[in-house]
Amino acid sequence: LGGSISRALQQMSNATIIDEKVLAECLNEITRALLQADVQFKLVRDMTNNIKKIVNLDDLAAGHNKRRIIQQAIFNELCKMLDPGKPSFTPKKGKTSVVMFVGLQGSGKTTTCTKYAFYHQKKGWKPALVCADTFRAGAFDQLKQNATKAKIPFYGSYMESDPVKIAVEGVERFKKENCDLIIVDTSGRHKQEAALFEEMRQVSEATKPDLVIFVMDSSIGQAAFDQAQAFKQSVAVGAVIVTKMDGHAKGGGALSAVAATKSPVIFIGTGEHMDEFEVFDVKPFVSRLLGMGDWSGFMDKIHEVVPMDQQPELLQKLSEGSFTLRIMYEQFQNILKMGPIGQVFSMLPGFSAELMPKGREKESQAKIKRYMTMMDSMTDKELDSPTPKIMNDSRIMRIARGSGRQLREVMEMLEEYKRLAKIWSKMKGLKIPKKGEMSAL
Ligand code: GDP
Ligand code: MG
Repeated sequence: LGGSISRALQQMSNATIIDEKVLAECLNEITRALLQADVQFKLVRDMTNNIKKIVNLDDLAAGHNKRRIIQQAIFNELCKMLDPGKPSFTPKKGKTSVVMFVGLQGSGKTTTCTKYAFYHQKKGWKPALVCADTFRAGAFDQLKQNATKAKIPFYGSYMESDPVKIAVEGVERFKKENCDLIIVDTSGRHKQEAALFEEMRQVSEATKPDLVIFVMDSSIGQAAFDQAQAFKQSVAVGAVIVTKMDGHAKGGGALSAVAATKSPVIFIGTGEHMDEFEVFDVKPFVSRLLGMGDWSGFMDKIHEVVPMDQQPELLQKLSEGSFTLRIMYEQFQNILKMGPIGQVFSMLPGFSAELMPKGREKESQAKIKRYMTMMDSMTDKELDSPTPKIMNDSRIMRIARGSGRQLREVMEMLEEYKRLAKIWSKMKGLKIPKKGEMSAL
């Protein structure tokens, strides 16, 4: 998507005269791109119509900043589409709130319930989980496992088949225990749709949730609008969480979900783990949708931190989505050269909090040096392989011996590499802006 929109804008900025025909061509291109990103057809049409109204051709013809004006207009329109105009109900710490999760089976409800609980628990809340999914075998076990891992109290039953009864019992119990965030997970079976919606309605009526959250898998494509609408028609959906944003989906379905439920997206799920969960923020999301980066700040930092002669190559590699051990090595070198590790690198995704916790700079530096010693024992092939699947036991053993480190340490270093590679792979397809170019937005 980013690619084709930039291309459309590029074509437009190359045209000397901006007339209606050029604008129409540009909007056609953008329409195609947004449809590919799973934005619903009607929404795209509304947006392009708005843009036609907003963008004044005379202004464009006179000014130089055509590209910027169009870009800004698209950006603003998409932001507006993600804003339903009113915030969702926000639970308050210390006051009891019941939050019910709904969504199709497989959308990520159970996972997201735990993430949501865990997120609040870290901030000092007292969350609790209630499993009102009596339909799927193993549903309670899954929630139990998740909850136990996060040390969150839970309620459910292997025997009881009435979801309403369990939901009510669970909510009552945790109210008595003074939990301030009681989360009710529901079933989401595909078959017998009418029955599912009836069950949700009953659970909702019995537990009187303060907030109903609709959980949507970002990869469902154009189906997003109808699905969201179907749920909204049965229960009072008040907020949306979009899951699996770490996959290939471009996230355009989020626009549909907002339009269909008239509710804001509040979080996104970015992985299977408990902490792969982010507060939803409209502007960076739209930037990403358009491929122009909440990376703008990051890019500026690259220009500041990475030596000039290495920049083009590094950016090129990042845009290809390849993050090799050699790139990691070179970035470690840059970090160490900067002397005491400052805040500068805190901008680089992944290189901050986990690798270099604040206040533990000395330790981090020693760790980085240790990693580099091990990498010195690697072959060129190992360093340059885009997917280090070649890292088998015998290679790991050789590296450990060669660097005089433990096997465990080599493995730890490779884990660190994998973690960073995962984060940096999100930059694949990134349009590489020149210094300062993005400050326009
Ligand atoms: P439910 O049927 O709606 O309760 O969905 P589950 O919570 O059981 O999730 C279905 C599958 O999606 C599981 O394998 C989860 O690990 C996975 N999943 C959930 N959220 C995410 C996410 O944000 N990213 C990825 N990659 N997987 C997710
Ligand atoms: Mg479930």
